[in-house]
This record gives sequence, C-alpha cells and structure tokens, in this order.
Amino acid sequence: MQLRVLGCSGAEFPGHHPSAFLIDDSLLLDAGTIGAVLTEEEQLRIRDILVTHPHLDHIRGIPLLADNVILKGLPEGLNLISTCEIIAAIRAHLLNGVIWPDFTKIPSAENPVLSCTDILPEKEFRLGAFTVTAFKVNHTVPAVAYRITKNATTLLYTGDTGPTDRIWEMAGDVSALLVEVSFPDAMEELALITGHLTPFLLTKELAKLGRLPPRILITHLKPQYFEQIREQLEAAVPGAELLQDGRVYNL
Ligand SMILES: [Zn+2]
Ligand SMILES: [Zn+2]
Repeated sequence: MQLRVLGCSGAEFPGHHPSAFLIDDSLLLDAGTIGAVLTEEEQLRIRDILVTHPHLDHIRGIPLLADNVILKGLPEGLNLISTCEIIAAIRAHLLNGVIWPDFTKIPSAENPVLSCTDILPEKEFRLGAFTVTAFKVNHTVPAVAYRITKNATTLLYTGDTGPTDRIWEMAGDVSALLVEVSFPDAMEELALITGHLTPFLLTKELAKLGRLPPRILITHLKPQYFEQIREQLEAAVPGAELLQDGRVYNL
C-alpha cells in the first residue's frame, strides 16, 4: 500500500497543506489538499474519497476537484464516502448551491459528477481492492477513523480526535497507525477542548493498545509548534515518524 501525503498539517502555510492522503493513486483519505499539489492527470485518477469529518481543512478540495472532473466529462465520476451525518453536513454547508454548485446534481441528479455513499460505523465494506471500516472517534463534530486493508497491509487513520477508546480495540494488528498530534504538551487544555492530541495525550492513548503498531505515523501538527512537538514526540514515542508533505510512504 502506497501512502502519498498531499497534506499533513494542522494549518496552512507554504509547504504545509491541510490533511489529504492518496492511497495507491485512486483512494483519497480526506480532501483538505488536492489541486494545489496534484496534476490534472493525477486528479482524474481519484475515484473514491473517504472523509473523516466535515471540518473545512479535511473537505475543502472536494468542490474544486469536482469542477475539474466535470470539465473532462468522466463517466465514472467521484464517490464521496462517509457516515450519513458527515455527508449531510458537507451537502448542507459546502455543496449547497450557494458556497459552490451542488455537484451531486450536476450535470444531472441521475448521473452526477459527485455521488455520495452513506456508510455505517463498524460495518466493513469493499472499495475495489480495499476493505474499509469506519469507527467513531472523539472530535467536536461527528468524526470517524478509518481502518483500511489491502492484501496483508492494514492502515488505521484516526482523522482528528481527542482521547478516545473504540479505535484502539481495532488497532492491535495494524501495519501502520496514522494518528493526529496537533498541539505541544503545554497546550493540553486547548487540545482537549478542540478534540485533538498532544504528545503526552498520545502516549496515554497508545497505552490502551496491547502492542504498538510497527509504524506510527504522525499527522496534523500545527507548524507553528513543529519543533516543540517533534522534541516531545521523540521523547514520548520513540520511533514515531512525523509525516512530511509531498512524501510517499510504502506501508
Ligand atoms: Zn477537525
Ligand atoms: Zn483538522
């Protein structure tokens, strides 16, 4: 499984893009960054978009991607996948015909460029070569993590979350954990209020696991505190890898 980091930042600055990960060129995991880093050809290879929650830094690439796809008249279109409340929020507040055209009805309601698929948490489903299950996590809005398996490789992506429990029951056998750490330890109070983790809070989460995954990949850092968080993580979770925008990881 190849994980290409389109964006792994908890903010936006040159070289730091909001959350989006492209798996094996066609499955997009969150959609905070698309057109800023992918060529037209690469954008047109995207088929399915798994969304963890409706915050702007995880969905803002979707409307402009739909616009680029419709120009090419691709018959397959795009498939937006998440739980019904997350899909409903995106439709109500982003693709609502005001903020952006409602691409779930364009060019026609019967055959739109953007189809939406509601999924249920805890219920496994197939996406081509992938097996996927969503699990609820703890954020300020409805939010899920995704467990994605292809062949012998399993990736668990937390999305944005504060301290949570259920996903750690599903993480015992994963090949790689892609987990958020947004703030340094000194900002724990803000992290808890906003549904995020610090290096110390991550150690408390990982203590819920029987064994640590072979790879722990860290995402969603606030670039303003990058060095502090990096130092604290190095001490708290030795071996954890801080993802970098633009890099490709073979899992
Ligand atoms: Zn969020
Ligand atoms: Zn976020």
